[in-house]
Amino acid sequence: MALRKTHIASAEAVMMGYAISTNQPLPIIITEAIGVWIGSQLPDIDQRQTRINKKTGVETSVLTLWGHRTWSHSIWIPAFLFILARYSSNSPMLNGISVYGYKVMGYFYFTLVLGYFLHELLDAFSVEGIRWLYPLGNRKIIRKKGIFRYKVHSMKEIMIRYVSVTIVVIELIFYLYKNLK
Ligand SMILES: [Zn+2]
Repeated sequence: MALRKTHIASAEAVMMGYAISTNQPLPIIITEAIGVWIGSQLPDIDQRQTRINKKTGVETSVLTLWGHRTWSHSIWIPAFLFILARYSSNSPMLNGISVYGYKVMGYFYFTLVLGYFLHELLDAFSVEGIRWLYPLGNRKIIRKKGIFRYKVHSMKEIMIRYVSVTIVVIELIFYLYKNLK
């Protein structure tokens, strides 16, 4: 719902803040940044499918059967992915890749889920809202007002994006400063 770039920027800002404040090593931070980058784009996969379908005129995916912002924007998917992430990070095979001695895949799995969840959270603040418990509950929980409420493609959404990008830049500078002195 919100634009792709806004989703990526805001999710990275949150993740970087956590990674830097907990002093994580660089290979892990990079892995987490990739995880969030992918995860924060996943929920709108149905939207992109719809666009592809319009162009080609064929149903290219089962994802479109339910329509946009239904299953993909429910709490069930990240909840399920979280269970998968826990399982995968405990598996010697699925968490087997180490970079400079750090087992990075576990961090990748969890930040993928985090990115997914942050995407939904941002969408939940939009005027359009989402249905967290789809298909339970027959209408969207939409915020009536509040300073964080925004319209997609509006000035406010663009501001959320730029503020997020600025936060990421500040976090990076802070990280470099801390590690170079
Ligand atoms: Zn969305």
